[in-house]
Amino acid sequence: GKYQSVGLVVGVTGIVGNSLAEILPLSDTPGGPWKVYGVSRRPLCSWSPTPVPAFEHIQCDISNPDDALAKLSPLTDITHVFYVSWSAHPTEAENREANSAMLRNVLAAVLPNAPNLQHICLQTGRKHYVGSFEALFKVEFPEPPFTEEMPRLNCPNFYYDLEDILFDELSKRDGAVSWSVHRPTTIFGFSPYSLMNIVGALCAYAAICKHEGSLLRWPGSRMTWEGFIDPFAKNEAFNCSNGDVFKWKQLWRILAEQFGVDFVGYEGEENRVKLEEMMKGKEGVWDEIVAKYELAPTKLNDVAQWWFVDAILGVEIEHLDCMNKSKEHGFLGFRNTITSFHSWIDKMKAYKIVP
Ligand code: NAD
Repeated sequence: GKYQSVGLVVGVTGIVGNSLAEILPLSDTPGGPWKVYGVSRRPLCSWSPTPVPAFEHIQCDISNPDDALAKLSPLTDITHVFYVSWSAHPTEAENREANSAMLRNVLAAVLPNAPNLQHICLQTGRKHYVGSFEALFKVEFPEPPFTEEMPRLNCPNFYYDLEDILFDELSKRDGAVSWSVHRPTTIFGFSPYSLMNIVGALCAYAAICKHEGSLLRWPGSRMTWEGFIDPFAKNEAFNCSNGDVFKWKQLWRILAEQFGVDFVGYEGEENRVKLEEMMKGKEGVWDEIVAKYELAPTKLNDVAQWWFVDAILGVEIEHLDCMNKSKEHGFLGFRNTITSFHSWIDKMKAYKIVP
């Protein structure tokens, strides 16, 4: 056919799916030319990746086995699956059940019907090493830097279920289809529909501070403010991790400058603040900002996840990933974190998500 590779991006409106849908169809992307199908539960909107000729959107609820089968089984030319989707639930038990079903539904629709399928990329994350949100840092975990072959923690984690489902399904196919699992740490990217988007949430916070004339206060720990932080995973076709280090102090100044607000840094333990509390009930303020600056219509709950920022910036202990294995396998791509932070904020503004 016209295309060497045909990718199914499951979760195309998400933080990684969005970038994949933009990058895969480019003429210089490895493995190309790529044809791309992008799946999401909701329709595309003004900020979605532009459906270039090689990007076809499929609206499908993968938690519904019938819908998944109906919409995905006709895509018989798929060669690669990029599974970059998840749904969030109050408990890990519910996360396990819901997310397992979603992956199973996709595999059941694609595996028997795509004879040229070569590879499945599954994105999970660093919580593989430190525990599910429920158990985060509460269970015993190995000394960082984390390496890929470290044994699983002795506590339930939907990431482990996803791996097992994938391995189990592929083992029935005698190695005809290969796999890779990608475990990024916090991701810098663009998606006003993501369940965890740190840059997006911080932009919304800064925009609210500007609108209300308040200080941009640091909602994190001393450790996160002062300590070196390791590579942020970047949204690339093969999800390489970054290679530089930075301090949140550096990024906080940039955030404040980008939104024209005054800022304060770490103010001591007794003055620790949480975004979840400071931003409680600001939905109406967000609607005002959207109207005032004629922004793309969004709800505060879609663009900002305060709990997530509090969790990431509130970390008290050092945790680092080891990138040696990835590098040895040729994943050498990286971005300058400072430049990257700037460019994602610029993109948020360009698509009129924030003023
Ligand atoms: P996201 O929340 O940004 O996007 C999720 C995507 O999945 C969306 O496109 C959404 O439409 C789609 N989706 C959800 N439920 C669906 C359904 N029922 N039917 C169809 N589509 C559905 O996702 P993400 O942050 O890229 O997360 C993917 C994985 O990466 C997760 O395991 C997550 O824990 C992990 N991860 C994320 C981060 C981060 O900073 N965002 C960091 C490390 C690891």
